[in-house]
Amino acid sequence: MVEVLIVGAGPAGTTAALVLARAGVRVLVVDRARFPRDKLCGDTVNPGTLAWLRALRLDDRIERESLALDGMMVTSRSGQAVVSDYGRGIRGRALPRRLLDLVLLEAAAHAGARVEQGARATEAILEHGTTVRGASILARGRRTRIPARVTIAADGRRSTLAFSLGLARQPAAPRRWAIGMYMTDVAGLSARGEMHLRPGHYVGIAPLPGGLANVCLVVTPRPGFGDPGALLRATLSADPILSERFVAARAASPVSCLGPLAVDASCAGMPGLLLAGDAAGFIDPMTGDGLRFAVQGGVLAAQAALEVLEHGRTDAHVRLARRRAEAFAAKQRFNRTLRALIGTRAGLGLGQLAARLTPSLVRSFIRRAGDIDLAVHGAEKDTA
Ligand SMILES: Cc1cc2nc3c(=O)[nH]c(=O)nc-3n(C[C@H](O)[C@H](O)[C@H](O)COP(=O)(O)OP(=O)(O)OC[C@H]3O[C@@H](n4cnc5c(N)ncnc54)[C@H](O)[C@@H]3O)c2cc1C
Repeated sequence: MVEVLIVGAGPAGTTAALVLARAGVRVLVVDRARFPRDKLCGDTVNPGTLAWLRALRLDDRIERESLALDGMMVTSRSGQAVVSDYGRGIRGRALPRRLLDLVLLEAAAHAGARVEQGARATEAILEHGTTVRGASILARGRRTRIPARVTIAADGRRSTLAFSLGLARQPAAPRRWAIGMYMTDVAGLSARGEMHLRPGHYVGIAPLPGGLANVCLVVTPRPGFGDPGALLRATLSADPILSERFVAARAASPVSCLGPLAVDASCAGMPGLLLAGDAAGFIDPMTGDGLRFAVQGGVLAAQAALEVLEHGRTDAHVRLARRRAEAFAAKQRFNRTLRALIGTRAGLGLGQLAARLTPSLVRSFIRRAGDIDLAVHGAEKDTA
């Protein structure tokens, strides 16, 4: 019998699988996709995420396959730009999620996790209506029940398990969508991630290996949204600062679009089920730290699963919620505050004024978004 079933082989699921497999646990990871697969993302790995990947001894290949990011540049419509490097030799990385997620999946498999691709979880197996005991999986047209002592839902923002069990939902507001694509020949790229804040939307740009750029628009839907690619191109060409940089740019991938982005989770699971990564809630991509929550959340879920297996604990989801709050609550408050600030014209205007008067404030926001504290103090200590 599978001891731990993990649904979703994104960064949260594979990190949890890696930790459990290294501890000698019989773990099965299922994913509806086949890898390598694309995933709409800004493709930046912030310094805090990198500290976690280093703590898990996963950083070598990731560093080889990626570009170093010295820091971030944030601009406003008025042309004001604040550049902040992380400093002290601290860097983030940029690489396509197609590659990052494959590296993590291979590491989990190498550690001993069994991986089944093209296998979609359709529902949780419930015992007495209160305890999750595995999940039903649909693979190659066949439905199978996979019983497990612990199930980890790491199946992303639209988590089948968390939504169907009433543990997560999309809030009525904000309802933002992301539209992204890879491009070549974007002028003016540097060794920094970019965030261009505008009334009603923002554009993230990241340089990638091979002369590619990840270009991603986050917007609240309005007329014209019917063709996401047209909206992305129109936004770029109407932008007073960005338009010149995209004159020669060419598409290097199809356009991807997803949303609404925000997901609220009411808890960290229920008896027999633990949530990890975006399945446990997602605020907004602006701060570029979702991967840190996913990787660290995967470690925390794995630790909670080990407590069930070793000590028969039935309250692991409650303990996980407490640990997630200790690790994430302050940063999530920061993220929610920023999301609210840039969500209104008045808030954005206020932010621009503050940035003009005290650019150091924006620099400290950039460092906070980058989870620099983890890079400085080391990620392992965070779970001690
Ligand atoms: C537009 C955008 C830009 C972003 N940019 C950044 C960034 O630059 N840096 C950063 O750190 N974070 C960024 N994020 C956040 C980051 O992408 C997520 O936080 C991260 O992917 C979460 O990882 P995860 O493992 O929880 O979920 P995912 O990466 O979504 O993985 C979930 C996996 O579950 C699988 N799955 C789903 N349903 C099922 C099912 N029913 N059965 C089986 N498998 C299933 C999927 O195929 C997928 O492989 C961004 C997010 C968005 C939306």
